[in-house]
Amino acid sequence: MKKRILVANRGEIAIRLIRAIQELDYEAIAVYETPDRNSRHLRIADEAIWIGDGPRKDYLDVEKIIGTALRSNVCAIHPGYGFLAENPDLARACENAGLIFIGPPSKVIENLGSKVMARRIMAEAGIAMVPGTENLPSGEQGLQVAMEFVARYGFPIMLKATSGGGGRGIRRIENEHELREQYPIARAEAKAAFNDDSVYLEKVVVNPRHVEVQILADRAGNTVHLGTRDCSIQRRNQKLVEIAPAFQISEELREEISQTAVKAAKASGYFNAGTVEFLLDSDNNYYFMEINTRLQVEHTVTEMVTGIDIVRSQIRLAMGHNLHVRQEEIRTRGHAIEMRINAEDPQNNFMPEGGKTISVYRSPGGYGVRLDGFCYQGFTIPEVYDSLLVKLTVFGWSWEETVDRLRRCLTNYVITGPKTTIPFYLNLVNDPDFQQGVFDTSYLETHEHLFEYKEDNSEINKLARLIAEIHNRGENRYAK
Ligand code: ADP
Ligand code: ADP
Ligand code: MG
Repeated sequence: MKKRILVANRGEIAIRLIRAIQELDYEAIAVYETPDRNSRHLRIADEAIWIGDGPRKDYLDVEKIIGTALRSNVCAIHPGYGFLAENPDLARACENAGLIFIGPPSKVIENLGSKVMARRIMAEAGIAMVPGTENLPSGEQGLQVAMEFVARYGFPIMLKATSGGGGRGIRRIENEHELREQYPIARAEAKAAFNDDSVYLEKVVVNPRHVEVQILADRAGNTVHLGTRDCSIQRRNQKLVEIAPAFQISEELREEISQTAVKAAKASGYFNAGTVEFLLDSDNNYYFMEINTRLQVEHTVTEMVTGIDIVRSQIRLAMGHNLHVRQEEIRTRGHAIEMRINAEDPQNNFMPEGGKTISVYRSPGGYGVRLDGFCYQGFTIPEVYDSLLVKLTVFGWSWEETVDRLRRCLTNYVITGPKTTIPFYLNLVNDPDFQQGVFDTSYLETHEHLFEYKEDNSEINKLARLIAEIHNRGENRYAK
């Protein structure tokens, strides 16, 4: 009998994982909650197991996932990103149940899951970071510590949830009034979102670039980096567009940041794939921010420029193999850009468009184009999960070629039904600053014209909608 691996996730990443699992000749076992019953990942898996009505609570249920894994005789669990990926309880439960967790050890996840603990580890290793505090005490005492920090570094400050993630639990505070007002709210929200009300402060890096480094590490202590990514183009501290390698930064600086990332990974006893995130200021100073102990949404851009399959590497590392490449064999060539095509309305504060049915789906292809998605024509997007539909990743030799290819893909992409981020991205690829690689985390705020467009009503799309309608209903209601 073939060995089996359970995929504890959904959406595009479930499909990405299943493909790698099957390529390595394991069977892929999918799990799903009721709202995902029409999801494509169930069809391509070797077996699909229903785990409950959800929404989200069954995907987040460690005991249920472990029980399902044991009953279906899998040897390992891949958590993907989001859900249980950075929950040390799943990793620990795997360790206790004799299952392989495809990720770092539970202790490492636990240490790095706390941004404050991670900062402590990095400080000890001598890695540069923005000035910050320990966890603040609650109540008036916390405000006092905060004001001492402000006396030294001044406003603005970042008030951050210690256990935060996914861009949530981060507040920029401009003055004492805001601090007093926001402090208790931040604690309460952190408690509700992350089951931990700890918060701390960081000095604000003004209009930084978000630069991160992909790491792979084996159990024998070999750690390599796969170069940098720029993820500065964000909304609400969440990434929208990611680029590999980080653009408009000298080769020397990229190398230095990458070496620092390896040092950071080693300092934390890292194993498997991970990402070390930094902020880079306009004077090219860079500061450690956090380590994500999982596969990253944007791993595709690194795969495009290095040729290394990161998910395959994760699985092989977890199964006990050592790294298959040495640092000096890893080369980066060309440029890759990923755009997250979300079912969201950019003109309405990126409001999710879940619940809608995709009436026409026509995707681009060709040289240098990669799509990681899970939707299809006739698919109704569940409202209860995140809004990522498909990741469009494009490779090109030069930056210009990559942007041109991206423009061609976006122009030819037809998704009707939900609003998507596609028209916004079309404005982005035509923006002179983007074309020159000039952007930082304030890019969306300073480029309001990106939000000026009309929903596409071209003749070709009207025709496409009509054909889809006929196709979906098996009849032409307009012929009557
Ligand atoms: P990445 O850092 O991989 O580029 P995101 O930061 O957007 O991507 O997070 C990836 C996914 O994981 C998103 O769906 C996000 O909502 C989710 N996520 C990340 N961290 C957390 C967390 N601590 N709690 C809940 N969801 C999270
Ligand atoms: P998460 O765990 O949610 O990914 P991060 O600590 O990685 O949170 O921060 C997410 C984003 O928030 C960063 O990419 C950056 O845009 C912004 N940010 C976080 N900390 C700071 C800071 N000290 N100064 C400026 N921007 C920051
Ligand atoms: Mg982060």
